Amino acid sequence: MLHAIHLYDRIRRGDGDDIVPRAILIGGKAAPGYAMAKNVIKCINNVARVINSDPVMEDRLRLVFYPDYNVSAMELICPAADLSEQISTAGKEASGTGNMKFMMNGAITIGTLDGANVEIREAVGENNFFLFGLTVDEIDKVRGQYDPQAIIDSDEDFSRVMHLLKSEHFNRFESGVLDAIHQSICEPADSWMTAADFRSFVDAQAAAGEAYKDTERWTTMSILNTASSGQFSTDRTMREYNDDIWKLEPIKLSSK
Ligand SMILES: *Cc1c(COP(=O)(O)O)cnc(C)c1O
Repeated sequence: MLHAIHLYDRIRRGDGDDIVPRAILIGGKAAPGYAMAKNVIKCINNVARVINSDPVMEDRLRLVFYPDYNVSAMELICPAADLSEQISTAGKEASGTGNMKFMMNGAITIGTLDGANVEIREAVGENNFFLFGLTVDEIDKVRGQYDPQAIIDSDEDFSRVMHLLKSEHFNRFESGVLDAIHQSICEPADSWMTAADFRSFVDAQAAAGEAYKDTERWTTMSILNTASSGQFSTDRTMREYNDDIWKLEPIKLSSK
């Protein structure tokens, strides 16, 4: 969402001519009592409304929060996606199987070294994966001295994004509804350390945009992703569970 605001800001100030047109789709669900997750969804919807109703953004930037995300939706979204955004902070282990489904269907991953992203990058090779963000070790080192406000202040693009949020540009008639989001990004105790990965994510997204302009290169990367995804098959996983845990004998099917 912060990256979408950044692209919006660049296009708005006339600095977006080299930006590849993007349709950004975000999906997910908040548990009933998870207030901050609901704030995030609210914020994405508000940002989307502003971006999608701005005529300057037409054909250049679209942002959609997909409601009621489920497997049927994923069956359509997955083969249509070019870039799989797996952005969980390293160590949070939030990138599990969605990333594998995208990979099998030819999307290229932009991701942190978290969860199955690590195995995906190993399988496809580092040249066919857009890596960003701190590693688990780096996150552990930074914890305790994490100063998001200093990171924001030292990065003009980030400052502009945070200013847009703070100035209620995305909630003109709902004063205060996005305060908690702004506050959580500036919070030294933010265990996701969102601010720490912002610059590296924006830069990796720019590299992905450049790669996308070279259709042959992008297609090669895409094919290599599908071709390297075999190890994530359900058959392999089930066989492994059986060898390690269940130890069941296969049933011989009669062939009549
Ligand atoms: C794949 C999938 C998930 C799990 O995604 P992760 O990236 O592993 O968290 C959740 N919901 C739906 C509908 C899915 O298709």
